[in-house]
Parts: sequence; C-alpha cells; structure tokens
Amino acid sequence: MSLNIHSISPLKVVRGEDAWLKSIELITKLCKRPLIIGRSNSTKKLRTSFHNDLLFKGVKAISFELDHDCCELDIQNAYHFSKTNNCDGIIAAGGGKVLDAGKLIADLLRINCITVPLSASTCAGWTALSNIYTPDGKFVKDVILKRCPNLLIFDHSIVRAAPPRTLASGIADAIAKWYESALTSGESEDGFVQQAVQMARVLRDQLFLNGCKAFKDPQSSSWKIVAEGCALTAGIIGGLGGAKCRTAAAHPIHNGLTQLKYKNKPLHGELVGFGLLVQLHLEEKNSNSQLPKQAKSQLINFLSQLNLPVSIDSLSLRNTNSNELLKACQFTCRKDSDIHQLPFPINEKEILYAIQSYKSMQTFSNISHK
Ligand SMILES: [Zn+2]
Repeated sequence: MSLNIHSISPLKVVRGEDAWLKSIELITKLCKRPLIIGRSNSTKKLRTSFHNDLLFKGVKAISFELDHDCCELDIQNAYHFSKTNNCDGIIAAGGGKVLDAGKLIADLLRINCITVPLSASTCAGWTALSNIYTPDGKFVKDVILKRCPNLLIFDHSIVRAAPPRTLASGIADAIAKWYESALTSGESEDGFVQQAVQMARVLRDQLFLNGCKAFKDPQSSSWKIVAEGCALTAGIIGGLGGAKCRTAAAHPIHNGLTQLKYKNKPLHGELVGFGLLVQLHLEEKNSNSQLPKQAKSQLINFLSQLNLPVSIDSLSLRNTNSNELLKACQFTCRKDSDIHQLPFPINEKEILYAIQSYKSMQTFSNISHK
C-alpha cells in the first residue's frame, strides 16, 4: 500500500465573536515580528487596527501590501521584504488569494503562519495549498505546502461585516465539494476519502438548508453554520480527503474561465459555481441517469437566489467570442487537469458546447420552474 501524507488541519483554530482580540496572546507565542499581509483598500482599516492591537501587546508587526492576486511577483517581493526585515511570522488577513499568498510566503521562509480570513469566500485559511495566478488573475497552478497554518482566526464579528457577495461565493465553492468529490472519489476504498465525501454531502445539505437565510441575515444562527461551513468545514474535507479526493470539472472549468478578460472580475466561488453547472450538463450528456438534470435545476434555483451567476450573460461573457471561450476550454483540458478524473472521456469542444448551453438567465429561470 502506498503511503499517504496528510496536512489535515491548522494546529489551532479560534472561532467566534472577537476571535481576533482573544487570539493576540496566542500570536505573541508564535512570533515577535510578524509581517501582516493584505491587499484591498476595503480591508486596510482593519489591518491597521490589527497592527495597532499587536503593537499594544509588544508585538512589532510590519505591514506589507500585495499588488495583485496571489502571483509569483508579489510572492517574491513579500519574501524579500520579510527576509530583509527579519520577520518571524506571517499574518495573512484578507480573502482567499491573500491567504494563499501568505501561506506560500511563510512556507518558503519556513516561518509560522497565521491566517485571518476577512470573509467566508473560500476555505483558503485552512488548507495546505496555494493557488498561483498571473498578475492579471489568470490561474497558473496550485502548490502543495508543507503544512496547514499554525493558527487560523475566524472572527465572526469581522467576517459578518464582509459583503454578502463573498458569502454567496463561499457557498458555491463549498457546495461544489460534494458534486466534485462524489464523482471522482465516491467509489474510493480509502476510509478517509469515503468519510471526506460523506462530510461534503452533509455540508451540501446544510448549505441548501441554511444558505439563503444566511445570505439574507448575517445575524441569524444559519449564518454561523454557513460561514463556518464554507471557510472551515470545506477545509477539513480537503485535508481529510487529501490528494486522493480530487476535484472533477467545476474547478478545472474555473481555472479555464480565469484565462478570459472580464470587466468586473468574478470571485473564485462565482466561477466555480458556474463551472459546477457546466459539470452537471456534461454529466447529463454522458449518462442515462436523470440525477444530473435534477441536480442542475435544483442548483440553478439555489445559486440564483444567492445572486450568483448562472449564465454566460450574468458572468458578462456575452461578448466573448467562441474562439476565446475555446481557449479557456483548452486550458481546462490540459493534460494534467483534474477534468480527466471524470468517469467519461472529455474534450474541449464538449466543454465549450456545455458552457454555451448556459446562454442567458431567462433560459434558466424557465428550466428551474419546470
Ligand atoms: Zn475552490
């Protein structure tokens, strides 16, 4: 039997109201001179307050702003900045791409890593994996890290204040875990993988049950279940399942779609959610079962209620010509892509047709009301 090496979980997870302030004691034990990494203007105020909170406790933090998504250039710059300033830890505070960048920099420098997700848009605060993009946001590859973060701080008061769009995106990303893992790993004989797939199913049910309520009311008890489900439980599933619990089509389609130009760049989960619809279309075409069709209509309904894109139009790709779309599909179909984990053979043309079948919102509301 081959050996399986897992990075299942951060060493410590602190979750709840005011988790940040309550974790400062723990941070002081992990580093004395951390580099706080972040990016967007909208989180700057928060990061400055983190800086001051740490200073107050005698931790001489230094701040660093990333210029792009998690890209080689930013990683290099932050790596050298951290080295020159003798930083002994990384505190990554932001969305998925900032968290991915922070984890990778800490990994390269072999220093402690603290992730502070500022939204529930992905499970990047949890995992031992970083996605690398080009400076303009095209997916390049993922990198497996030596370990999960030393500390994850999931502060409800902070995450609750994030734009609802980020939660919706997190829901789409997390719900995809079931549809992807069931397809590629449902038959696995590995107990860990079986348990991860079942956990993904339970998570899907909870998201269906509580997702809309959480999206509409961040003060509800549904919000806690959903936000933690997206940012934390989805990470446990990835950690437990490990490399054997692969994605199927939704994520490779996301990777392909990031190669296109957008006026307003969609969030990770927004593209994954659409990729999931494309996956279900492919499943429908390649099986005799009615299940993919039913799942598709159920998902279109659910994603629409969360204001998530369910068509080429709603991704503002209407003016993207077939040639550009085909290039995105070619990227999705690269030799080492997880899309070849699908239980049937697949080529770029079929993916293109599947994407084009989701033309406009209207077509979809018709389907979902049948
Ligand atoms: Zn994802």
